[in-house]
Amino acid sequence: MAGKKGVRHVVTMTCTECKERNYLTEKNRRNDSTRMELNKFCQRCRKHTLHREAR
Ligand SMILES: [Zn+2]
Repeated sequence: MAGKKGVRHVVTMTCTECKERNYLTEKNRRNDSTRMELNKFCQRCRKHTLHREAR
């Protein structure tokens, strides 16, 4: 692990309806300025909801 550069940026995707943290994803540097939004299946809502990058 030593010496590994912090190129990869792991972010948490949070359901916008129930605020459950459902997914981890990696973001590349290019997208860094924008907040990612994805439609994902939420276990708690039991449907597809919009998931947003958590801070
Ligand atoms: Zn949800």
